[in-house]
Parts: sequence; C-alpha cells; structure tokens
Amino acid sequence: MGKGITSRSEDYSQWYNDLVIKADLAEYSAVRGCMVIKPYGYAIWERMQAILDKEFKETGHSNAYFPLFIPKSFFSKEASHVEGFATECAVVTHYRLKNDGNGNIVVDEEAKLEEELIVRPTSETIIWNTYRGWIESYRDLPILVNQWANVVRWEMRTRLFLRTAEFLWQEGHTAHATEQEAIEEAEKMQGVYADFAEKVMGVPVVRGRKTENERFAGAVDTYTIEALMQDGKALQAGTSHFLGQNFAKAFDVKFTSKEGKQEYVWATSWGVSTRLMGALVMAHSDDQGLVIPPKLAPIQVVIVPIYRTEEEKAAVDGFVDSLRAELKAKGISVKYDDRDTQRPGFKFAEWELKGVPLRVTVGARDLQNGTVELARRDIQSKETVSQEGLAVRIENLLDVIQENIYQKALDYRDAHITEVNSYDEFKEVLEGKGGFISCHWDGTVETEKRVKEETKATIRCIPLDAKEEAGVCIFTGKPSTKRVLFAKAY
Ligand code: AMP
Repeated sequence: MGKGITSRSEDYSQWYNDLVIKADLAEYSAVRGCMVIKPYGYAIWERMQAILDKEFKETGHSNAYFPLFIPKSFFSKEASHVEGFATECAVVTHYRLKNDGNGNIVVDEEAKLEEELIVRPTSETIIWNTYRGWIESYRDLPILVNQWANVVRWEMRTRLFLRTAEFLWQEGHTAHATEQEAIEEAEKMQGVYADFAEKVMGVPVVRGRKTENERFAGAVDTYTIEALMQDGKALQAGTSHFLGQNFAKAFDVKFTSKEGKQEYVWATSWGVSTRLMGALVMAHSDDQGLVIPPKLAPIQVVIVPIYRTEEEKAAVDGFVDSLRAELKAKGISVKYDDRDTQRPGFKFAEWELKGVPLRVTVGARDLQNGTVELARRDIQSKETVSQEGLAVRIENLLDVIQENIYQKALDYRDAHITEVNSYDEFKEVLEGKGGFISCHWDGTVETEKRVKEETKATIRCIPLDAKEEAGVCIFTGKPSTKRVLFAKAY
C-alpha cells in the first residue's frame, strides 16, 4: 500500500508498531517505557473513558481522586501485595535539586525524604488507609468509588499501549459489609468489562477466573476477560478482584454490623487500562491500517469532495452542508475533508489508515445523478448509492459495520479454541495455529509453572462456563474436573 506498514504475515509485531505510529495513535517518548499518546489516539481513549464512565455511574459508582504517592510503609502492610509489586516500583527519595557550584544540577542530599514514597502502581493501600476514616458502621457501606488516573509499573519489556511503564487506567475500589456482596460486585464489574469489550470494542472475550499463579497480588480471586489477537496470542483485557478482607485487615478497617459486632470490611478492586487501545488495534486492523468500530471511532464518517472548478466545489459544499447537518442531528461524527492541499487518492489512503468506518465521496457528476459513493472500511467495499435517504442509510450502515467487526473477530476466536487431550497435541497446536487451548490441568501452581517454562503458555483463565468433566491433566496425568484455557499471551 505504500504506507510503510509491514504486513501482518511478514511480522505481526512490527505491523502493530507501524500501525500505532503511522496512524498517529502514539509514539515512544524520551523516557524509557513511557509513550506519548497523540491526539487521534487520545480521542479514541476518551471515547472509551466516556462510555465506561457512564456505565460505572449507572452501576452506582462515583469518581474520586487519591494521591499519586504512597508512603513505603503502607505498601509493606499487605504481604503478598508488596511482594507482587516490589520488583516494579518507582521510588521517590528526595524533594529538591541544587546547583553544586560547578554549574551542575544535582540531587540535594540534604533534601532526603524521611520516608520514601512509591509512585502508585495501583492504589489499594492508600485507598484502604483512607477508608479507615470513612467507615464506622454498616450504614457507611457500601463504598463504591472509581478513580481515573495514571499509574507506574517499572516494566522491563514494554510495547506501545500493551505494556508501558506509565499507563492510564481506571481503578474501582469498593468496600462492603458482606463477603457475598463483594463477590457479586467483582463479578458484576467483570460483566461490565465484558459487555464493553464485546458491544463497544467489538472484541469477543472469555470470562473466567485466574489461577493462583496469575492472580493479582493481594486478591483472593481474580476475575478476568481474555481476548484473542489476530496472531493467536491472548491478551488480558480487564481484571476484577475479590480482595476478601486482606486490605481491611492490613489497614485495620472495621465496621459495626447491624448486630453490633465489630467486623472487617470486604473489598473489591477492578481496572482496565490503555492496554485496551492495543487490543482494539490488534483485534481488527489489517495491512491497510486501522479498523475502528463505529462506536469508538472519533470520526465515523469522512466526506471527500471531488471537483475541478470553484463552481463545482461550491455545488458539492452545498450538498455536504445539508448532509453533515442531518448526520450531526443523528449524533454521528463527521469530518468534511476539503483540504485543497491534498489529492483525493491521498485522502482515501489516509482515512483508510486511520480506520474511519465510512467514507462518502461526492463529485460534480454525483450531484447530477443524485448519487454518492459509499466506501466501507471494514470490508473495503465501494458502492454508488442514491442521495435519497442517505443519512438513514449511513446510520444503519454504521450498525452493520459495528456488528460485522464483532462477528469477524468472534469467528476467528471461535475457530481458535482447540480442545486437546495430550501434551504432544498441546505443543503442536501452540506452535501451529495458536489461540486458546482447552485442556485438563491438575490444579497445581507447580504444573502451571512447568508448562510455562517449557512452552511459554500460561493459563489465561478457568472459564466461568467451564463444564464439569472428568479428565486427566495433560502434563501430569493426575485427575481433573474441568478444562482450563492455556495460551501464549501479551
Ligand atoms: P491489575 O491491577 O494488574 O489487575 O491490572 C489492571 C489492568 O491494567 C488489567 O487490565 C491489565 O491488563 C492492565 N495492565 C497491567 N499492567 C499494564 C501495563 N504495564 N500497561 C498497560 N496496562 C497494564
């Protein structure tokens, strides 16, 4: 295509990078592992935020904001939590610089913090320390709070959006009077994420639970949604944790129950991040560029005029003005690309690269014929259609495109869940077509670790809908009652 994008078959991972950069979503920054999200990429993230935020509020949550810095001592209070995050923490030790007299700016050793601060990798500790002051009795519960923020995890191997050292996310942190209520909350938010992935992003996901090995540090149970990318690798798209009373105990958060007893509070936390941007790109895009589902596209329809003279341009403008007004009234976002500095062919390629779902081309001849040309990005089709009822046709077509993008991803995903019953078969599928491998596992951390060492595949999840089925572990031959999903993952 001459856009300088590596093809997927040539090098999938290079294709992904090329696309993110060429489509103007993001770029690497001067800071290791940190990216610059460019306006076009940020516009997609803002749409994700807006839709999720609405959903959080409809399920009873409110937004709040907690500090970026967490005292180191807070971090040490929940043992498995600190153990899980210790290896990737950025630590603030000083609060001042000075001129050393030779013109060098150096850290002022006299301005050493008494207690180091951790740049939050996640906020359970600072939030549970705060909740202690908010909760006295059952009347103060539940607390249903969400925070939109940036977090820092000092990742050694980073990839644009998928894994960065600093990333944007939301983190929900809820407090409940009963275990049952907290579990229901964790499950509910997994459902919110799954619906968002499928209905908005067009990405089918498997809902499941993590094994002990893959669980969030400090959680009793981690619910996950797992998506499949076009190269057959899985991507954890969102997680929702049932935290039990672990953080309440670590931070001494108790409440007086209806019966007048002092009890520890039950907790959940749940988050999705800018990783979703990576999932979006990897799930749908092609060798020509991005394919963005209409519900997330910052520009849903682009209109490109074809004209030779000023009179022709004026005539096309007149038509476009009324079409735009009609589309706008339907809540459809439209861009009229009437730049006179670029030729139509250049514009077509650019909007194709940027994944705009629908393109309308209209020229002087169309005006005479009462037609326009409509081009769909998802299936790269072109057809000449009547101007009559055009806005309604476009509105309907956007729904068709949304559905088609999902269906295509679903067909791919379903064709890439393979049941196997032996370790040989397991390795063959893993090295061959990839995807999710459904098989029996003996339930031990040790087996999961050994399989990971030998094949790089991990248990993505124990699907919520896994049927009871007697079988034997593909690795140890020990009995198992359920199949789990293994895959290589991002
Ligand atoms: P966690 O707090 O580990 O459960 O992660 C919450 C969400 O953030 C999950 O959807 C993760 O997939 C995502 N996530 C974790 N680490 C990163 C990272 N380094 N970059 C982007 N997203 C991440």
